[in-house]
Amino acid sequence: MSQLTPTDWIWRDGSFVAWNDCNFHLLSHSMQYGSAIFEGIRCYSTPKGPAVFRLPEHMERLMGSAKVYRFEMKYTAADLVKAACEVVKKNGMSACYIRPMVLRGFGASSMVPFASPVEVCIPCWPYGAYLGDGAHENGVDVCISSWQRVAPNTIPTMAKIAGNYLSGMLIKMQALADGYAEAIALGPDGKLSEASGANTFLVKNGAIYTAPVDASILPGITRDCVMKMAADLKIPVYERDLLRESVYLADEAFFCGTAVELTPIRSVDRIPVGAGKPGPITRALQERFNATTTGKIDDTHGWLTHVG
Ligand code: PMP
Repeated sequence: MSQLTPTDWIWRDGSFVAWNDCNFHLLSHSMQYGSAIFEGIRCYSTPKGPAVFRLPEHMERLMGSAKVYRFEMKYTAADLVKAACEVVKKNGMSACYIRPMVLRGFGASSMVPFASPVEVCIPCWPYGAYLGDGAHENGVDVCISSWQRVAPNTIPTMAKIAGNYLSGMLIKMQALADGYAEAIALGPDGKLSEASGANTFLVKNGAIYTAPVDASILPGITRDCVMKMAADLKIPVYERDLLRESVYLADEAFFCGTAVELTPIRSVDRIPVGAGKPGPITRALQERFNATTTGKIDDTHGWLTHVG
């Protein structure tokens, strides 16, 4: 089981506090009601030093989540971009995971949050392969979850907030209990949605397919990278409703997300996907993604923010 490795400093509202001193009251609104908005971002080691992948886009998504949940933000996305770079530098990290969090602290006596101060923290820590050793190389065995994602106009999936992850936790724990690395969940309409913490792509007859934004998904920033890299490689991309059986019938399938990066799926419900091993389109996208994040090829899309 993955265990978080502490670093020295956490950026907290404009200053640095020691890792062990970054505490919140038990009765903070975010603790009681799951109202912590957040992001998960990777910083990669490149020949030009540490570089954060798609940092402005992550901070813009954080600002969007804040807007949906009526957080009053003291900072702009640009301020938070700067703060994230500072915390990586201050901790002397090269490759790491960055977790900006916007919390509602102690004050409100009920779920109405406005008496709680809005507090912003940015920790970072070392982070390896999310789905375990060998997942990127060999692919993972997954299932279709018996848990569905939330329906539209219930809990907004375009906002990334702690409470949403109750759904992901149920999906992931069930998958692990049943001997799978991960699960793909269906939406309330029975169509493909996403994994507990990643988006899903299928490959069929040389084209790639993914569920649309209205399929109860978080519109992933890595998903956007996949679509742009596919265009670079002249691979047609379709966002469309996908039936459960389309996964079993796909030539290839893969997950994408900040934590999983690009991870091939080799079987679903013990049915091999294609040949039951990572296929050529998955491999081509994965190689391009890895070469971009680590600065081995030109950053033609401007996806890297160098920490230097
Ligand atoms: N869906 C969910 C539920 C997630 O938690 C994540 C990870 N943030 C993703 C998709 C992928 O998003 P991204 O590529 O922006 O990390």
